Amino acid sequence: MARPATVTIDLDAIAHNYRVAKSQAPARKALAVVKANAYGHGAIDVARKLETEADGFAVACIEEALELREAGIRNPILLLEGFFQADELADIGRHDLWTVVHNQAQLDAIARADLSAPLNVWLKLDTGMHRLGFAPDAYRAAYRRLKALPQVRSLTLMSHFTSAEDPASPATRHQLERFERVSRDCPSPRSFANSAATMTLPEAHHDWQRPGIILYGASPFVADPEVQAQLKPAMTLTSEVIAVRELRPGEAIGYNGTWVCEAPTRVGTVAMGYADGYPRQARNGTPVLVNGQRSRLLGRVSMDMLMVDLTGLEAGVGSSVEFWGRNLLANEVAPWCDTIAYTLFTGITRRVHRRVL
Ligand code: PLP
Repeated sequence: MARPATVTIDLDAIAHNYRVAKSQAPARKALAVVKANAYGHGAIDVARKLETEADGFAVACIEEALELREAGIRNPILLLEGFFQADELADIGRHDLWTVVHNQAQLDAIARADLSAPLNVWLKLDTGMHRLGFAPDAYRAAYRRLKALPQVRSLTLMSHFTSAEDPASPATRHQLERFERVSRDCPSPRSFANSAATMTLPEAHHDWQRPGIILYGASPFVADPEVQAQLKPAMTLTSEVIAVRELRPGEAIGYNGTWVCEAPTRVGTVAMGYADGYPRQARNGTPVLVNGQRSRLLGRVSMDMLMVDLTGLEAGVGSSVEFWGRNLLANEVAPWCDTIAYTLFTGITRRVHRRVL
């Protein structure tokens, strides 16, 4: 039998979640963010599933965009990091990609380029993330320069939130104010909203939303069930118990014995480790489901295996174990691993069998 570590991707769930995102502002458009292999869900599968309804896709870089074009995806595709070398502009034109422009070097490269067709440019303003984008005092000049270039067909104004998933953060309001103030004299379509803003911030809907994490069924509001209730988790990570043993009080489990049994304990060894993408940081007690019953991780995660508590459960060799997915939210597991659902999803490695529904 093949090793049972399996990731199951539910494409209908992703289509459902895209519709949830769209329904927040039906008259506006939404780019489905499928960068990083669709947050680990398979960019080609996800794009094919959404191609008839998505207004477009967003990826990080040209390699990710070309993968989709080669798979026959014809929708608009935006490069969120723009381009790195001027010679990418030929491919951007040839494959009809849209590009972010976030710095002066990119702007100068476009001005110098001899293009077969003009570009659709998304001009990025740094409203406070301090990661990419023109500073507020340079933005309008960049806009005017691009507007005047024959190499540019259309301009869209964009920025990105630092903390939209935190309703208590004043940053969101400051960023929105900055965006409105700086772009006031720039008559072009706008885009600001990530998943969190798509779901809860109508004033940030503008012309284009850019939902990512909600497409995959995880709410950006980890502690608030309301948004989560509308979403369907798309990734389920499972494996099976491959060995069982009974331990006495005082016996320790796994590398460095970080769990010491206080009572007689039935321990299941499961074929799932950090080389599969299950986080090594997961602490003792991290929830798992064994045959659908709640249980917990015991001891340190190894490269290929981990141990779970089977005490009192209907379970043995061959029992199924769910790590996150339909029945156990990634958002519940992630804090046990000092991380967020995004890294759980993107971390699954190629050793894990992929099953696409
Ligand atoms: N827009 C940009 C520029 C991003 O970098 C990302 C993701 O990091 C998104 C949109 C989507 O964000 P989220 O997954 O939180 O919806």
